[in-house]
Amino acid sequence: MSGTRAGVTVNGRGYRWPGRPVVVVCVDGCEPEYVTRAVQSGAAPWLGDVVARGTALEVDAVVPTFTNPNNLSIVTGVPPAVHGICGNYFYDRDAGVEVMMNDPKYLRAETILAALSRAGASLAVVTAKDKLRRLLGHGMRGICFSSEQADRTTVAEHGLDDALGLVGLPLPSVYSAALSEFVFAAGVRLMESARPDVMYLSTTDYVQHKHAPGTPGANDFYRMMDGYLAKLGALGATVALTADHGMNAKTDAAGAPSVVYLQDVLDGWLGAATARVILPITDPYVVHHGALGSFATVYLPAAVDAGAIKGRLAALPGVELVLERAAACARFELPPDRMGDLVVVSTRNVVLGTAVARHDLSGLDAPLRSHGGLSEQLVPLLVNRPLDGPTPSGRLRNFDVFDIALNRVAA
Ligand SMILES: [Zn+2]
Repeated sequence: MSGTRAGVTVNGRGYRWPGRPVVVVCVDGCEPEYVTRAVQSGAAPWLGDVVARGTALEVDAVVPTFTNPNNLSIVTGVPPAVHGICGNYFYDRDAGVEVMMNDPKYLRAETILAALSRAGASLAVVTAKDKLRRLLGHGMRGICFSSEQADRTTVAEHGLDDALGLVGLPLPSVYSAALSEFVFAAGVRLMESARPDVMYLSTTDYVQHKHAPGTPGANDFYRMMDGYLAKLGALGATVALTADHGMNAKTDAAGAPSVVYLQDVLDGWLGAATARVILPITDPYVVHHGALGSFATVYLPAAVDAGAIKGRLAALPGVELVLERAAACARFELPPDRMGDLVVVSTRNVVLGTAVARHDLSGLDAPLRSHGGLSEQLVPLLVNRPLDGPTPSGRLRNFDVFDIALNRVAA
């Protein structure tokens, strides 16, 4: 990073110094249709006004369309090939262990947030789940806490004491819409009190995993969100919203999960445990998706012909795309040292599992909805101010949101 009050340069991209508070919101699992349907139903008048009079774009998320790779791309402005976080897990072939990537030591790029704080901007970050907090806050001075652990904040670790008292809401359950509401409520309270120059808010997709766009459960969530965003706008902030990924039903005609169990398939072809399937969606919070998403990576022994397995996997019903590592990393801008020999993406309504016996679907109390594939790549990018010039040419990404909010909207 280099920079002055004229702005900062981070990972090769320049960002102007904010002339007014800028709030970037990552709405987890925000398929564009959620916004469209909520606006149509009258549940989200502020968002309706943004769509009509502000900036309303549809942009591409990072594949795998999972939470951490996309949140880290948003706060670094670059793809996972640069920042390194390509999922929740990778397989360390030398050590023979699956490694969880939620520690900042796996992050290979500075965040825009850290660079701005180092240049003297005041920063605040609020995430729903604590799993993202240390990655997002890495190298940053300022306020950074999660709803999940808002009862444990200290000045030394989180930049403020008693986040719970500041927000004035009860500590929410980790599996609830309230976990995300707490993020928005905290954002409004922080804007009213500390008024940071730049704020990043990141929610959880608990609601989107259960409720399809336009349903009462979804519209209620967007109504809640709309009220808080309106308050941030009324406090004078530029509010820019995007998403980490979309969300689709992953069920068959009978409403049962539609799953290709790749480990079982490969064990049948190659012998037990010859191949190793990694599902980078896997994390400690699996209740709402059973660790089932539309993206997997497969590690094969050197003796196995990856090209031949690629062809056989690509022929399976429900599989949309299989690529060898180099092609996958080139197409999706992923770090080759953290991907397997093959990348497998399933179709819109299908997810990929390891072995039937390794997925506990007992916690699914609604038909499975999930993400991870190409079918969840398109997400909204909305700003409550119009662009200060023509729409940038070329393919726009969700990780262009800081560039758009800081550099490309009307003052
Ligand atoms: Zn997500």
